[in-house]
Amino acid sequence: MSLQIQANVSLKPFNTFGVDVSARWFAEAHTDAHIREALAYAKERDVKLLVIGGGSNLLLTRDVEALVLRMASRGIRIIHEDCSTAVIEAEAGEPWHPFVQEMLARGLSGLENLSLIPGTVGAAPMQNIGAYGVELKDVFDSLIALDRQTGQTQVFSLADCAFGYRDSVFKHQTGRWLILRVRFRLSYAAELHLDYGPVRQRLLEQGIKEPTPIHVSRAICAIRSEKLPDPAVLGNAGSFFKNPLVPAELAARIREAHPGVVAFPQADGQVKLAAGWLIEQAGWKGLRDGDAGVHDLQSLVLVNYGGASGGDLLNLAKRIQADVRERFGVSLEMEPNLY
Ligand code: FAD
Ligand code: NAP
Repeated sequence: MSLQIQANVSLKPFNTFGVDVSARWFAEAHTDAHIREALAYAKERDVKLLVIGGGSNLLLTRDVEALVLRMASRGIRIIHEDCSTAVIEAEAGEPWHPFVQEMLARGLSGLENLSLIPGTVGAAPMQNIGAYGVELKDVFDSLIALDRQTGQTQVFSLADCAFGYRDSVFKHQTGRWLILRVRFRLSYAAELHLDYGPVRQRLLEQGIKEPTPIHVSRAICAIRSEKLPDPAVLGNAGSFFKNPLVPAELAARIREAHPGVVAFPQADGQVKLAAGWLIEQAGWKGLRDGDAGVHDLQSLVLVNYGGASGGDLLNLAKRIQADVRERFGVSLEMEPNLY
């Protein structure tokens, strides 16, 4: 079946903030042929193309004068397998958390710390998703992307992706690469990462002394569900700001004035500060301005109580940025992609 393009579609169901803006055109791509049709459609009419997955890392600040293409391709296949590892390829439109669960059910580990992250497989490399001490790059094999300028496909190795903290080459070449499918290198021999945050403690509380990857996944799902708002109930895009990396001298100055600062020294000499702590100290936790607010359990998360526009959320974010800069001398970078 050919690509179904609709005009003037509300994007409210397609972004986890639940912001109500509309797309001039909207379509869902189930196949590579659909993607090529969408590219041709956009080129013929000289309109932009905005590719989205689950819309869980987007802040839409106005109606989108473009063809919004939602990735809905499905498929998971084994590319290579031996007794200890497997290389698994997944289509970009595969929903992330069910994919993680499927890998765990097959006895493959590596993704368990990344459980319950919303969104799709294809968007995961965009910001090198990370949680509880594991990042996508740790299990990444390669990906196949379409160059929207030339129409050619290209294979990206780990080095080609230039993954960093919530960062990749794709974030810096916005609109050029359309990620079609991603390959993961997973393991049948579990090497667990339990030393981050409350994971180990949670397992011990449950009496689990020799955890399996499935135990770790369940513990992380439980921790996340207690702390993070469910977008189906309260609109949000997860962490709104990245944790800032600051020079050691600035971190020391902040610690002098605020001994409780949450800070993690990095291998390169910089110090990662918990942005949530800075925002909370500045008094923003739980604060609400109209329908835009700061979550009351995790101040890194901005929430939409129902009727907030993207502009309302952006204004709140800018006020927080200015306040944190003034109080601590630290610049907070926004994490979601702004349109
Ligand atoms: P979208 O929001 O749809 O798109 C994000 C960006 O990627 C956009 O710029 C879009 O144009 C681009 N894009 C999407 N698909 C493609 C593609 N196939 N090819 C090229 N470009 C594409 N993130 C973390 O890193 N760690 C977490 O622990 C985490 N927890 C979260 C918890 C909650 C409750 C929420 C709401 C969000 C969380 N996030 C987290 C953020 C978000 O879920 C991830 O960044 C996720 O990978 C975004 O996927 P998506 O499909 O929703 O992408
Ligand atoms: P948390 O456990 O309360 O920790 C607060 C912050 O401290 C985190 O942001 C984390 O940084 C950092 N941290 C904690 N332990 C650390 C360690 N041992 N070494 C270095 N840094 C450490 O955080 P949380 O909000 O509940 O989130 C838990 C995990 O899920 C984090 O990894 C977080 O990034 C991830 N998460 C991400 C999003 C998103 O939208 N991006 C949303 C929800 C949760 P890091 O963020 O650098 O890991």
